Amino acid sequence: MSNIAVGIDIGGTKIAIGLVNERGEVTAKSSLKTDLALQPSDMLGQVADEVRRLAESAGLTLQELKGIGVGAPGPLNTRTGRLTCPPNLKSWWDYPVVERLGDLLPLQVRMENDATAATLAEKWVGAAQEAENFVFITISTGIGAGIYLHGKLITGSTGNAGDAGFMFLHPQGNISKEEASGYWERLASGTAIASQASELLGRDVSSKEAFDLAAQGDPLVSSLIDRVYTYIGMGCVSLINLLDPSKIVIGGGVSQVGEPLFSAVREYVAAHALNPSGRETLIVPAKLQQDAGLIGAAALVHCTY
Ligand code: ADP
Repeated sequence: MSNIAVGIDIGGTKIAIGLVNERGEVTAKSSLKTDLALQPSDMLGQVADEVRRLAESAGLTLQELKGIGVGAPGPLNTRTGRLTCPPNLKSWWDYPVVERLGDLLPLQVRMENDATAATLAEKWVGAAQEAENFVFITISTGIGAGIYLHGKLITGSTGNAGDAGFMFLHPQGNISKEEASGYWERLASGTAIASQASELLGRDVSSKEAFDLAAQGDPLVSSLIDRVYTYIGMGCVSLINLLDPSKIVIGGGVSQVGEPLFSAVREYVAAHALNPSGRETLIVPAKLQQDAGLIGAAALVHCTY
């Protein structure tokens, strides 16, 4: 047996496939466009072909690989190995991913929600290596989170623990269309920021452009971004009060904004977390950006959790 695991990161736009060694290094990878017109079994057939090809070019037989880890979007059910109803993968609803991959490849398959897998990766080789109690948050197209407490990954009864993007922060909001929906990812994800900035300026604005305009002092966009920082802080405070982590690790595209976001969230947490130690929770950027999904998926094979 080699020290190489297969990581498969299933997403709405692409499926990344990689070989990852025991130090969390991606040694080979490829990616397929997620074709929603294809049946999931055909799509997974292509994924299996890619795994065979990557193994062969690494000079390994399939049997020499340590196993397959899959990170997939929720809602899913890790007990049954099925994707339940992920909004961006409608044709995959109720599809038995784990069983099908096990039929296609002679390897053990483990699957977790993608944010949960990324959490394990941050513990393994990322920004939370020394932490026994932390929460990972990804602020990207949506918002997801993973929970690691008492030295263990917390996955819940069906693998859906950490769907923090659906914590209700503002149920009666009526300030804008987005805020009226009230849940965290409708208020503070990259998608929500772009949509609110576009509504404000009457043209298409990306979330990156919204942050740039705020940094240049645009008054309208600045107040939107300040509100977004407050919402990110509110979500963090709720997680801190609920779970008592020593650290929060924030990743995902929106976290690329960097210091302005992190200092605003630290300030909010210092002012609003309930208990004094909670107010001092470390708020740090994720270490794994590129290939985080692949490393997370492979962590499911390399790490005990
Ligand atoms: P995914 O959701 O597919 O995992 P990402 O983590 O890259 O993808 O997140 C994509 C979101 O992050 C988009 O809404 C995008 O506009 C936003 N984003 C990406 N880079 C930046 C940046 N530098 N500043 C602000 N927002 C960004």
